[in-house]
Amino acid sequence: MSLLNEPLKFTEVVPPARVTLVGAGPGDPELLTVKAARVLATARTVLYDHLVSKEVLRLVPPDADLVYVGKESAHHTLPQDAIIDLMLRLARSGRPVLRLKGGDPYTFGRGGEEAQALAEAGVPFDVIPGISAAQGAAACAGIPLTHRDHASSVLCVTGHLRSGTDETLGLDWPALARPRQTLVVYMGLASLPILSAQLIHHGMDPRTPAALVERATLPEQRTLVGTLQSLPSLAQQHEVRSPALVFVGGVVSLHRVLAPASGASAGASVDGPQALLATL
Ligand code: SAH
Repeated sequence: MSLLNEPLKFTEVVPPARVTLVGAGPGDPELLTVKAARVLATARTVLYDHLVSKEVLRLVPPDADLVYVGKESAHHTLPQDAIIDLMLRLARSGRPVLRLKGGDPYTFGRGGEEAQALAEAGVPFDVIPGISAAQGAAACAGIPLTHRDHASSVLCVTGHLRSGTDETLGLDWPALARPRQTLVVYMGLASLPILSAQLIHHGMDPRTPAALVERATLPEQRTLVGTLQSLPSLAQQHEVRSPALVFVGGVVSLHRVLAPASGASAGASVDGPQALLATL
């Protein structure tokens, strides 16, 4: 029997659909990129994280499938492996997936690991960058990340305690304590006392200006300003909750002038309803 006469065998081979990793920005939907807003408006299946604001989710069509795969420090709704597995299964069944992550997908969001898994599985993907929390908080709290008088470099680190990590958080403290630098700590709320103590131990002046920006760019944004030494107790006293970013460095002193003068707030006033300005 020639090849032409052979009965056709239909094996269903659906090429995998595309996954788009999208940065949802720091919270304020106006801070989405034009590209992110466009893909959100036509999305069919959206897997979103804990930090994506409800205002951003409103841009997704009402009949789209919205799947919360949340990720809050300590209690993950779905472990990272399960998120990757779900993404791969959806893509392989031919459903385009929009993977929506807070801030920028490639900044402390494990977007790199998700992209790696997609690449290894041969699933086509795109990445749409987002404004990261550091940039959003800096603009809305009046804390420039660099400034000729204060800082010629910015260092963004994670303060997240991995289980099994010791009191040093696995960070390069001498590098963090360098002068003329702005230090931004993501996920640093729980480890704030360690951060403060280690930076002082490594030679940073305890009076270095330091700030916490809670729920940056959202109407409830709060900014707490103090010193490297006072920030942990201020955080406790004012019950700061996640998400919050820690800023340490001379640039924080500019908040006093820039925040009240700036019209760049996300809603109410730049400091939010409960503005707290401790003495520097
Ligand atoms: N990919 C995200 C970061 C994810 S890690 C980004 O690029 O912004 C999560 C941490 O980001 C939080 O613990 C907090 O430290 C910070 N964060 C995210 N959104 C924030 C916000 N609106 N205000 C303050 N901090 C925020």
